[in-house]
Amino acid sequence: MTASLEASLEASLGAPLAEPLFERAAIIGLGLIGSSLAHVCRRKGLARVIAANDLSPEVRVRAKELGLADVVADTIEMAVADADLVILCVPVGAMNAAAAAMGPHLREGAIVSDVGSVKASVLAALTQHIKPGIHLIPAHPVAGTEQSGPDAGFATLFLDRWCIVTPPESADAAAVAKLIAFWKGAGANVEIMSPAHHDLVLAITSHVPHLIAYNIVGTAADLEAVTQSEVIKFSAGGFRDFTRIAASDPTMWRDVFLNNKDAVLEMLGRFNEDLTALQRMIRNADGQGLFDLFTRTRTIRRSIIAEGQETPAPDFGRRKP
Ligand code: NAP
Repeated sequence: MTASLEASLEASLGAPLAEPLFERAAIIGLGLIGSSLAHVCRRKGLARVIAANDLSPEVRVRAKELGLADVVADTIEMAVADADLVILCVPVGAMNAAAAAMGPHLREGAIVSDVGSVKASVLAALTQHIKPGIHLIPAHPVAGTEQSGPDAGFATLFLDRWCIVTPPESADAAAVAKLIAFWKGAGANVEIMSPAHHDLVLAITSHVPHLIAYNIVGTAADLEAVTQSEVIKFSAGGFRDFTRIAASDPTMWRDVFLNNKDAVLEMLGRFNEDLTALQRMIRNADGQGLFDLFTRTRTIRRSIIAEGQETPAPDFGRRKP
């Protein structure tokens, strides 16, 4: 990102709130998403006190060096004590353990949320550890990069991105409204969905594309007729964009596939059928079929740019001389 683009995004975050929405926000897990939340919480004054915890002692030390939170607690119990907002920013497969550890220490009336990339399994895991009187409202900010860890976060990560909130049917309307205000304060647009619908939509827009990237980069790495150095040297022809996605965090993505199995398998079935149809078009020299499909797909890219979810700027990725 250029310095001027960064400055203009930072300015778009707007002024801090006149009054914080929460007295004490506890952020559990200080990787890319947790550290970005900590930055924007501070920048926008969304909580009077930011408390945080991470399982890893190295991450806790680094979080203190970076000044990510007012309190970097050694345990999850200490971080959530007295918090009126708790957001779990740990891998999907760690949500159950984190919720079990903090459950007995949550304050009556607190809002508990998360940022996991899968929603139905996370809701099921969290529900069993959250007592009545605490508002459980899962959410998923659809924003990220292929980086992880506490140094990767930045305040504008959620700006103009969507955050999907998936409240249980029994959720308290005022608590849902407060969580929505929090995400809007962080710069995001908010949409409400059921957890099952979220998992189906994200299977095709995020999970299957990541699986395809992991697969194509893996296939290229295993090819015998093409050397590794040729794969790297001539990567600009499309492969390079897949390698960015395939560099995403292995723990996070393992957990996504294990926890959104049904929706991913359903979408993969559809994908395989369409791939077979494409194979047939190539075998039958059906140029018109290929042209029509590629024209339709180009329109999708243009709509994403028109909706402000991507820029049309060319990105050739070459190192500046
Ligand atoms: P990350 O950079 O790998 O950070 C996760 C952090 O959580 C790590 O420091 C990890 O420590 C810590 N952790 C693991 N278990 C914990 C526990 N029980 N208690 C406290 N801390 C714990 O991951 P991330 O990219 O920020 O992703 C976090 C969540 O956001 C995931 O659920 C993911 O699905 C979701 N998400 C990610 C993206 C994205 O693009 N990255 C986008 C949207 C949503 P260790 O390293 O020691 O395990």
